[in-house]
Amino acid sequence: MNSAFCYCRECQTITGSDKWFGLWVPVDKFSFTKGSPATFTRLGDSGKDMNHRFCRDCGTTVCVEVTVGGFYSVAASTLNDSRDFFPKMAIYAKSAPEWAVFPEGVPKFDILPPGMGG
Ligand SMILES: [Zn+2]
Repeated sequence: MNSAFCYCRECQTITGSDKWFGLWVPVDKFSFTKGSPATFTRLGDSGKDMNHRFCRDCGTTVCVEVTVGGFYSVAASTLNDSRDFFPKMAIYAKSAPEWAVFPEGVPKFDILPPGMGG
């Protein structure tokens, strides 16, 4: 559906960096084929649940279910090969640290683009 760099505070905490690179996949098009992740749930800005699915063994967050949008934001870093994916937008830029680097030519939004809650 989309591919986005997210600079929100939660993504910074999860990644230990300035951003999360998420590939958005509709919930009904995504499933775990092996193992079952653990879940941590928090409330997003929308007031709806954000279900973080992470590996029980190494703690890596594999994806976050964004229930308000009906999609998973899958961590590009967890794919076997993510070289073909590029961010289409940078979101929550207002929360980025001063030293954050934004990709050139990629639309940047303080929170979300208009029409997506921004
Ligand atoms: Zn985020």
